[in-house]
Amino acid sequence: MRLLVIEDERALCETIVRSLRRLAYSVDYCYDGNRAMELLGEERYDLVLLDLNLPGADGMTVLKTLRQTDRETRVLILSARSEVADKVAGLDAGANDYLAKPFHLEELEARIRSLTLRQFTQNDVVLTCGGVTFDTKARTAAAAGQPLALTRKETGILEYLLLHRGRPVSQEELIDHVWDNSVDNFSNSIRVHISALRKKLRTALGYDPIRNRIGEGYIIEEEQA
Ligand code: CA
Repeated sequence: MRLLVIEDERALCETIVRSLRRLAYSVDYCYDGNRAMELLGEERYDLVLLDLNLPGADGMTVLKTLRQTDRETRVLILSARSEVADKVAGLDAGANDYLAKPFHLEELEARIRSLTLRQFTQNDVVLTCGGVTFDTKARTAAAAGQPLALTRKETGILEYLLLHRGRPVSQEELIDHVWDNSVDNFSNSIRVHISALRKKLRTALGYDPIRNRIGEGYIIEEEQA
């Protein structure tokens, strides 16, 4: 699950980014509206957290620009402007939700969960496929009832495959949705992370629930055929 945080209060921005990364989300961030529009033009995000009062282009301009070409990406407005008129304007301009500052991180996490799960058919808090589960609230995975110790990328890959179970997911799509712009991202190929994840799942379950369909991508299934 790949998120973009657009917030010019750096301490707040860093707090949000740190806490979301700890929950195994892939997170990019920027401090102004112009950079935000560049990133939104270049990358694909599952959810954008958008402050309204920003240097450069303001949040409403960023939102309207995004919505000219993209109705899919979820947008959650984070703003100190708590007046009803601003909320209405934001939602009218295509935002999916609104959270007034100051807010508790737990509430932010709950809104993110709700917005990101809403677009998928599995809207249970716990995603399940055979013996594999991923608790989207605790952000932890288990196999055969035992907790799995996964890295952030392994967690992101597993969550994405579970959300899209029933269809193969290409490596390119995984990179788009699971990788962020952190420097460490280019040091290892995606295959390394997938094979580490598969090894952990195989150890816990006695079989590997992830299959690689040549030319199509990876799919998670209940049992090996
Ligand atoms: Ca601001």
